[in-house]
Amino acid sequence: MIVMPQANIRDEFLQKLNARVGDTIRIKKDGKIYEGILMPHHEFSGEDILVIKLRNGYNVGIRVTKETKMKIIKKLRKLPSKKKRDIPYDPNKPTISILGTGGTIACYADYRTGAVNPATTAEELAFSVPEIFDICNIRTKIIFQMLSEDIGPSHWKILAKEIAREFNENRVAGVVIPHGTDTMGYTAPALSFMLKNLSGPVVLVGAQRSSDRPSSDAMLNLMDATRVASQSDLGEVVVVMHGEISDSFTLIHRGTKVRKLHTSRRDAFKTVNEPPLGKVLNGIITLNSGYIKKSDGRVTVDSNIEEDVGIVYFYPGIKPEDIPDKKGIIIMGTGLGHVSRLLFSRVKELIKDGSTVVMTSQCIFGRVNLNVYSTGRDLLKLGVIPAGNMLPETAYVKLMWVLAHAKSKEEIRKLMLTNIAGEISPRTTIYGF
Ligand code: GLU
Repeated sequence: MIVMPQANIRDEFLQKLNARVGDTIRIKKDGKIYEGILMPHHEFSGEDILVIKLRNGYNVGIRVTKETKMKIIKKLRKLPSKKKRDIPYDPNKPTISILGTGGTIACYADYRTGAVNPATTAEELAFSVPEIFDICNIRTKIIFQMLSEDIGPSHWKILAKEIAREFNENRVAGVVIPHGTDTMGYTAPALSFMLKNLSGPVVLVGAQRSSDRPSSDAMLNLMDATRVASQSDLGEVVVVMHGEISDSFTLIHRGTKVRKLHTSRRDAFKTVNEPPLGKVLNGIITLNSGYIKKSDGRVTVDSNIEEDVGIVYFYPGIKPEDIPDKKGIIIMGTGLGHVSRLLFSRVKELIKDGSTVVMTSQCIFGRVNLNVYSTGRDLLKLGVIPAGNMLPETAYVKLMWVLAHAKSKEEIRKLMLTNIAGEISPRTTIYGF
């Protein structure tokens, strides 16, 4: 059966008015007057929401009702046609690949209408910040066009393969991955476990504010990500994002140690439990010691993972049955790594049935230690594996990877306790909090 799309109230209003994207309109609603440029309808906003760009640069969504009044103030004159632009190439510069996955960073401001559109072609992605052509040559490919909350294990595998191909077949110096910020802290460690012997940096980059906003972090983040990918000798998966609230520098975070810790600040990403790997200030990259250098050989992909793994956040009042039956469970316990004794029999049952249970802390910063209190010691006796100072998200993707590679319970335990991709710091220092 074909379901015809219902004409919605927003479209009806716009049709009656003969208003097009780019026209300046005045809307009167609930006694308030809004004036701005009509923006394209975004597939994620409600059917009855009309978005206009106010003169101050901010977009506002207005719910259209029968009572709403609208008037065209200025028609947009004929749109200048988009010219086909060739991506420049300079044989004296290194070449990197930009593999688009979506998110705010992969949107560009269309200066003809003022709208922010997702880059749907490789060319649009490359020209979203044309200044990057001053740094290096760019190859581009759109792999996905998704909000990162929809990115998951199947996408990590595709990405890992695409990255390896760029290094091995196209011989690029580095790869930049524009990605939504929400789940960058999962994709980064996933790629860190899946990619081996990297012959250049893999740099995930995002933006907290879109490129049409005066406070956008998109430009500096992408420029610095491009610099790190083309000029550094890193052989790791890293995240490059704003280092503080103004536009002065970006930080280079190890993929297994990075977490989004603020919903909206531009410096939302922090390296947890360690100092960051480095910094880009005024276009100059400084790396701290201890990073993995790029290799000369071929990049290999080892993306086999067990997806039957989950994360359980402990809270007072949680019931034993709230811990699901899965091959692997990451518990985010309290403090040093504790859960209520009421859950012990469930944990015991899971482990007896062959599951692996790993303890991380909801404190995020610091290391779990199950030897201090009797609760912890009893959890150890049940067979719970302590995650050291691994982030819960990193422990989650690591357990997926380990379960698909280890052949025995002993090997699972050994691999979870071994530092494979910089996820467990050997020493606890005062840095990283
Ligand atoms: N939820 C979106 C995402 O993570 C937010 C936009 C962004 O951070 O790029 O993709």
